Amino acid sequence: MNRPHPAVVTPGKATLPEAAPSDAVMLFDGTDLSQWEPETGDPSAWTIENDYMEVDRQSNKPAPWKVENGYFEVVAGSGYIRTKQTFGDIQLHVEWATPTLDRTVGKGQDQGNSGIFLMGLYEVQVLDSYQNPTYADGQAAALYGQYPPLFNASRPPGEWQSYDIFFRHPRFGAAGQMLAPARVTVIQNGVLVQNDVALWGVPLWLQHLPYRPHADRLPIVLQDHGNPVRFRNIWVRPLLETRPVPPPGYETTTHGIRLSHKEMDRYVGRYGTWEIHRVEDVLRMHFFGPLWLEIVPLSPTHFVLKHTAADLRFDLSEQGVPQSVTFIIGGVPQTQKRVL
Ligand code: MG
Repeated sequence: MNRPHPAVVTPGKATLPEAAPSDAVMLFDGTDLSQWEPETGDPSAWTIENDYMEVDRQSNKPAPWKVENGYFEVVAGSGYIRTKQTFGDIQLHVEWATPTLDRTVGKGQDQGNSGIFLMGLYEVQVLDSYQNPTYADGQAAALYGQYPPLFNASRPPGEWQSYDIFFRHPRFGAAGQMLAPARVTVIQNGVLVQNDVALWGVPLWLQHLPYRPHADRLPIVLQDHGNPVRFRNIWVRPLLETRPVPPPGYETTTHGIRLSHKEMDRYVGRYGTWEIHRVEDVLRMHFFGPLWLEIVPLSPTHFVLKHTAADLRFDLSEQGVPQSVTFIIGGVPQTQKRVL
């Protein structure tokens, strides 16, 4: 309750709605809630069996919120709604507006409260946080109960605001062990408000659940907190979940041959505008700019750059002295003759 409040930043002029990129999955385009259905529980009501969190099956009922004028609105008391599709790592765009209530009706957490639950578990708070103080980790763009936003970039109630959320789901091993926590980045109205933070577990009101293993793809859930918050233009881009592997050639640098200093020194010299020199046990090549790059011999005629997939092919005389070198990167060969 006493955590410091983030500084207030007035966001730039709104340019909403923001058009979706070509590969986005539209979750609400202004017409209907066909991509949504009621959620029957909240995180504490999930089934936990053998320490595994299970979400209930599809409800096949229509989402009970109101659609009009290109947006939909929370119907107080009707319950949370969730996407019919499930998602893992995502980029999510959501536009929302809190109600223009008489400020005597609700204060703090009772003013424009809703929320976006990533995987139905990890809440990015939606709240009227325009001159409406509440606890810092419960205000708009907080990762509820864990991380206050870096800034308060809220617009006044009634104005459309945007969240762009970048989410990496938690990774669990085959035995259910925690491999990596969920990570979240949020941009609110063009202002970075959460910067790749790692969640501690499942946030809930007044408590924290530890991480429990769950599926790698789960629905996105929106909260009914009793306030008529509006949403529109919701789209999501599933993200590639594997990291790029190093290119072939990179790994081979660990299998270089050993050359004596005398053998290494045969390569030292100038090749056109390039240059090779030796520092102790390391040969380095200068191509351009300030960089000297370490080169590793795989054979007397074939070297590679230590840190990038690039090849050097030396043309040797009968005495084993380099006459020229061909540098090949990205499949493009360039040859320089030795001049010194
Ligand atoms: Mg909420």
